[in-house]
Amino acid sequence: MEVKDIQLYINGKFVDAVSGKKFDNFNPYTNERINRVAEGDSADIDAAVKAAHAAFNGPWGKMKVSERLRYIHKIADLIDEHIDEIAPLESLDTGLPISQTKNMVARSAQNFRFYAEMVSSRLAGEAYQVDGDFLNYTIRKPVGVAGLITPWNAPFMLETWKLAPALATGNTVVMKPGELSPITANRLAEIIDQAELPEGVFNVVHGFGETAGASLVAHPDVRLISFTGETVTGVEITKNGADTLKRVSMELGGKSPIIIFDDADFERALDACTWGIFSFNGERCTANSRLFLHASIYDDFVSALKERVQNIVIGDPMDPTTQVGPLIHRDHYKKVKSYIDLAIQEGAEVFSGKIPEHLHKGNFVAPTLLLNVKNDMRVAQEEIFGPVLAVMKFEKEDQVIELANDVKYGLAGYVWTKDIQRAHRIAQAVDAGMVWINSQNVRDLRIPFGGSKASGIGREGGHYAFDFYTETQVIHVALGNHHIPQFGKK
Ligand code: NAD
Repeated sequence: MEVKDIQLYINGKFVDAVSGKKFDNFNPYTNERINRVAEGDSADIDAAVKAAHAAFNGPWGKMKVSERLRYIHKIADLIDEHIDEIAPLESLDTGLPISQTKNMVARSAQNFRFYAEMVSSRLAGEAYQVDGDFLNYTIRKPVGVAGLITPWNAPFMLETWKLAPALATGNTVVMKPGELSPITANRLAEIIDQAELPEGVFNVVHGFGETAGASLVAHPDVRLISFTGETVTGVEITKNGADTLKRVSMELGGKSPIIIFDDADFERALDACTWGIFSFNGERCTANSRLFLHASIYDDFVSALKERVQNIVIGDPMDPTTQVGPLIHRDHYKKVKSYIDLAIQEGAEVFSGKIPEHLHKGNFVAPTLLLNVKNDMRVAQEEIFGPVLAVMKFEKEDQVIELANDVKYGLAGYVWTKDIQRAHRIAQAVDAGMVWINSQNVRDLRIPFGGSKASGIGREGGHYAFDFYTETQVIHVALGNHHIPQFGKK
């Protein structure tokens, strides 16, 4: 598949970086170069922010809401029309299996349609009558130029997840995509160009975090930063944004527990647990990477898991039958492998599937179970972000809650039991932003998304995104001649 080199998208034009620099983008399946990417830095961020600022004070800011939302619907329609072309680009760039990227792209179109509808139906203020003397009411205004910083693990979906509410509520945007997955961000820019949004409403600056990303965070005319990525990066961005009082939304890492009791539906829990850790190649923020099994089902469940791990189809991400593809980059592959080595040093037993011989060029890590894990081992505490599941055993409810919560992250949790009281009890006791009972990770777009502890700050999704992407303004109106103190009057 031939893919052209990637430029920046600033003020409605595809341009090279001011410095003229480019970096190479690699195919995770072959480790050959796919294309070259314009390497933006502070000069390009500056130009993009200027364009976004002018669009906010100009056509986009002055546009009627109904007209703005027509653009948002148009973007959704164009994404839908191009799913069969965007999904292969995403798989080529990230190594994610095509059967999964197709669903992600379809979800991306829904993100735009959903926020167009949410803004027309739910972006509302409140009004308070004050003893017949006053009316106080609130309105929601866009904040200004929004900086969106995104990771490589589900790029198109996560970019649209932020972009749809940011634009639908009337902000303009400068986006800095993950440097390891730049291709579909530009396909999104092409779609927005085709939808004929006014120049400067949406801008993309590719480049590295420490240069392009950091300049976006530090820019005084950028009012907010929505960030998805690693916890350490989130901390750095929060610090760097403090000087300009940035409003931040942080969607960070996870090490989420799945707790399976002896009365759970065995086969469904097995399906959900296997999918939850090995889908998206294990590069999934909400992955159930820590499995807590009730002692009485431990042996049976582990042997069923071993069978699944051996049978998972590892292969070319473009093949519709592939279930696990190559990891994003050689460096990430090495990091995940180093955790498997660490597991052995820490005393765990490693059980892995087999990678077919012909796949030796790609960044393949076979689906792996870490058995005999103790919760205080690093492999049970640190985010590996690959197809690696740490398996632990428990006897009692109190014990498993303590173990599940004994981790710095708090993004997601999963509970499997047929006892309805226990299900809710455990779900509410797990320190995580989102908990699923007898369910895999499916979510309705109206529901808030986000984590607690080291997994994030704030919630996006549903109407919760309005709290982040809009400013609430209060108008106080006097309805009569209320008392006003008369200082200095004789
Ligand atoms: P990362 O933190 O390395 O990079 C994310 C983005 O931040 C990239 O665009 C990068 O260039 C940029 N960046 C890096 N340093 C920066 C700096 N100093 N200033 C500004 N920008 C900077 O994350 P990654 O490796 O791309 O993504 C994987 C991580 O993302 C995992 O930890 C995963 O759990 C997390 N994630 C979280 C969610 C969620 O919703 N909670 C969703 C997906 C991924």
